[in-house]
Amino acid sequence: MVVQGKNIIGFSLSATSEDFVTSFDPREARPLEKFYMATNEEIEETLQKASQAFGVYKHFSGSKKADFLEAIADEILALDDVLVQTAVKESGLPEARIIGERGRTVGQLRLFAQLLRDGSWVDATIETAQPDRQPLPKPDIRKMLVPVGPVVVFAASNFPLAFSTAGGDTASALAAGNPVIVKAHMSHLGTNELVARAIAQAAKNTGMPDGVFSSLNGRGSSLGQQLVMHPVVKSVGFTGSYSGGMALYKAAAQREEPIPVFAEMGSINPVVLLPGKLKASGRETARQYAGSITLGAGQFCTNPGLLLGIEGEELDIFLDELAKEIEAVVPATMLNEGIWKSYQNGRAKVLEQNGVTLLGAAAEQEGNHLGAAAVACVSGANFLNNPNLHEEVFGPFSLVVKCTDKEQLQQVIRSARGQLTSTIMAEPGELTEYKDVVREASNVAGRVLFNGVPTGVEVCHAMQHGGPFPSSTDSRFTSVGTDAIKRFVRPLALQGFPEEALPDELKNSNPLGIWRKVNGELTRDAI
Ligand code: NAP
Repeated sequence: MVVQGKNIIGFSLSATSEDFVTSFDPREARPLEKFYMATNEEIEETLQKASQAFGVYKHFSGSKKADFLEAIADEILALDDVLVQTAVKESGLPEARIIGERGRTVGQLRLFAQLLRDGSWVDATIETAQPDRQPLPKPDIRKMLVPVGPVVVFAASNFPLAFSTAGGDTASALAAGNPVIVKAHMSHLGTNELVARAIAQAAKNTGMPDGVFSSLNGRGSSLGQQLVMHPVVKSVGFTGSYSGGMALYKAAAQREEPIPVFAEMGSINPVVLLPGKLKASGRETARQYAGSITLGAGQFCTNPGLLLGIEGEELDIFLDELAKEIEAVVPATMLNEGIWKSYQNGRAKVLEQNGVTLLGAAAEQEGNHLGAAAVACVSGANFLNNPNLHEEVFGPFSLVVKCTDKEQLQQVIRSARGQLTSTIMAEPGELTEYKDVVREASNVAGRVLFNGVPTGVEVCHAMQHGGPFPSSTDSRFTSVGTDAIKRFVRPLALQGFPEEALPDELKNSNPLGIWRKVNGELTRDAI
């Protein structure tokens, strides 16, 4: 398949504008292909198609939607090396990483297909009527989750496959029964087009309505805003910067009909290094963390950007080893010019703050958009007094905060705003001694790890990838794992309906054999 630079509007490719942008190879610093921007007419056509497709798609059975998601996975794999090489070229990420990410993308589509075939995810809840109840009869009420309508997805730069065109937002929105419109990320336009065409092909092959999926090229400030403001759109999935997420969140709240924006934004992911752990395995922990800080050139929303310890010999040994490890890391190409520049600026800004000392930095090398790793340190008091040190530096950088004691450690954790993750590195016995610290770490984050690294987010039923604001706009939801589907549904209760008019999920006979809560009891039995 050859990249054509077009918009994917349902089953059609379209490029009616003269306005284009050029994709870019950050490693070679050279332009690649032309991509035509969506015109107002193309945007309107896409939205009308999505609206019509919703009327059909929302009624499809779980198994029919599962066929569609599995076909998307197959079509993505069929793109084979063309997709891998395009993503490598556009992102600067190594081939092995892209192949791994493709596996994750395909695996996540198949996991949602399994969820749909199982069917119990709709949370069917039934209370049967009690006509003789005194003083008033109780009506028959049956509730389940139903799709909300067309969803706009803003792809992330740092996962050109797994958080992009066919990533978790798209997979969960389609699984829920909603059409999806992807605003292509400028950082991987060719990768986006290939995957979007694979989705369109899968939709055609499995009998989905035209318009169940589209992908448009355009700038966030114009196309992105226009999509979010359009009355056809009912929800938004976003991964990226705080400023981008909040701009969309505010725009959506100001619509005549406000809609939710599920934005996953920045996080510095505090890691608490307790003294017993550092004493038992300080050097090993330093090596583990040097790997996590620099993985993927630090371009992960779960990158450990803040390491917290209590002053002492154990912490000094850890820092000495961490600095040595970081100095030895070969700089890697960053995703794009903007992210590279913002890394240079963000790192420089932290290093010039009062009391900040550079502990170690990898040597700069010849090459384009290379992000050299660094670690710095600051006292607890200086950290607490300086909000500039609380901001995310997106890249291979981490700030170590040396606290005077347990109380200051707690204060520092409390001062960190909402986070995707927090981590406790401890000997098992320390969890009791430091239980208040563990409590603070749980208060600020959506996922708390014990003796691990926050990078690497498992796609599974139990995952929570979303934390208190500002890491996400709604901490009740996750953007990774099967519960991500809950962002794009609403509960619908049907009262007093006859059996034949109920959806299969709520019929007395339970023809789908799903788990339901009937009069307060979980059961798969018929009523
Ligand atoms: P971004 O700049 O927020 O862009 C993400 C998407 O949102 C792009 O499609 C962008 O479109 C669009 N967008 C941005 N501002 C918008 C606005 N005001 N209105 C409408 N749409 C808007 O994020 P990025 O390019 O992926 O990376 C930049 C920064 O985001 C990084 O430096 C990092 O701090 C952060 N980041 C965070 C995560 C995370 O997982 N939390 C992941 C990646 C990046 P255009 O590009 O066309 O403007």
